[in-house]
Amino acid sequence: MELKLYNTLSKQKESFTPLNDTVRIYSCGPTVYSFAHIGNFRAYIFMDTLRRTLKYNGYKLKHAMNITDVGHLESDADEGEDKIAKAAKKENKDPYEIAKYYTDIFLRDFDRLNIDRPEIICKATDHINEMIEYVEQIVKNGYGYETSRGIYFDISKLDKYPVLSDRKVEEQIAGARVEVDKEKRNPEDFALWIKAPENHIMKWESPWGLCYPGWHIECSAMSRKYLGEEFDIHTGGIDHIPTHHENEIAQSKGRCGKIPAKTWMHCNFLTVDGGKMSKSLGNIYTLDTLKEKNIDFLAYKLFCFSSQYRNKLNFTFEALESANVSLIRLKEGYKKHSEGVEKVEKSVIDEFEEKFHEAINDDLNMPVAMSVVWDVIRYPKKSKDLADLLLKFDEVLGLKINEMPQKNECVIPDEILELSQKREQARKDKNWEESDKIRDILKEKGYIIKDLKEGTKIEKI
Ligand code: AMP
Ligand code: ZN
Repeated sequence: MELKLYNTLSKQKESFTPLNDTVRIYSCGPTVYSFAHIGNFRAYIFMDTLRRTLKYNGYKLKHAMNITDVGHLESDADEGEDKIAKAAKKENKDPYEIAKYYTDIFLRDFDRLNIDRPEIICKATDHINEMIEYVEQIVKNGYGYETSRGIYFDISKLDKYPVLSDRKVEEQIAGARVEVDKEKRNPEDFALWIKAPENHIMKWESPWGLCYPGWHIECSAMSRKYLGEEFDIHTGGIDHIPTHHENEIAQSKGRCGKIPAKTWMHCNFLTVDGGKMSKSLGNIYTLDTLKEKNIDFLAYKLFCFSSQYRNKLNFTFEALESANVSLIRLKEGYKKHSEGVEKVEKSVIDEFEEKFHEAINDDLNMPVAMSVVWDVIRYPKKSKDLADLLLKFDEVLGLKINEMPQKNECVIPDEILELSQKREQARKDKNWEESDKIRDILKEKGYIIKDLKEGTKIEKI
């Protein structure tokens, strides 16, 4: 069946055909200076769904994801301090210790969300030589030049810049903050390699003295090393489009004249009250917040499936709690089918399979795919064949539908969650009598309910 994916480069859905038998993918991974929040994980859940959809279509994968443990400055436009170095100073720790700590937690959370791990997970600091070699080649080809601050990419040498975004170079320049390097040839030139001031913690010997990498060069160097000059798909969040990915393309054109990936895919933001969830805005929640509220981690994944990855998704605890109830229903629905003895015609099963396959192949349209899953769950005849079909769908969903929720991670029964939701509604309707009555019932059943700023929390007494 045809697989259609939206390509940010051509701004349209395209029929996907890999360059060779193994699909090669590169994904921009986390900057490990702090905990990843659930907004970040929306981007990795999208990446997971893409991997699983490709596998469902029978493709073999070679997928690399980087861990940025050096070089990501506070602003994407080469300004401010290195994020890892800043965190190291703040926490009074070695930067490698900081990076390791947050990488371990990131990967633990990856597993909690049952995200299928890329075949290659690579750290920037392990690829300093590859980056130096890449920068040298760009300079040799006439696309890079040295200033007293570092080595810059000369965008005026390109046939076209930008190619991925619609950003107007002039507008960006007019709105730019203080110019960081007066020696830059063009205001849009960006740093490939930065000369380290004496007190800078992470720095390496290079042909230009003690330096550290610019953020974009790591992805160019690592994708080239593991996937070659040209590969199939590059993924990231929409915030990567105007600077990071634009500059990765520029670097690759400067080095070998090619745009590195054929298809560029970007996940839209998870928002809170309409605005982006981000560390700098201080409106973040982590998977531990879910754990504290006894919400199954995979309920967050199910919640993400309520919107196609190219649309914004607004986060509320209410919606997450209803996803938690839905996840339990899904698992119960699977169980009922797995114990069923009724016969379901093959044509019915084939039709469900085709609809599901069509939905995922339509640029990973998960809301439509989930509606097919629910149709199977609600199918009046209970049959083992439908349970098998659901298990097949779960290869794409990764919701572990055949496992009951983990102890300590989601132990609140359905009935209690429903009562809590009714109480929420009563509170919204300012029906205090009803809300108090439900609180008492919950107490009798052994649960206490706490009203916190970010929503209600249910605890076993
Ligand atoms: P960072 O660790 O800040 O480099 O971000 C890691 C990934 O998370 C990138 O792909 C970002 O685009 C993505 N990201 C950051 N904030 C959000 C958000 N609120 N919603 C979805 N993706 C996000
Ligand atoms: Zn990247």
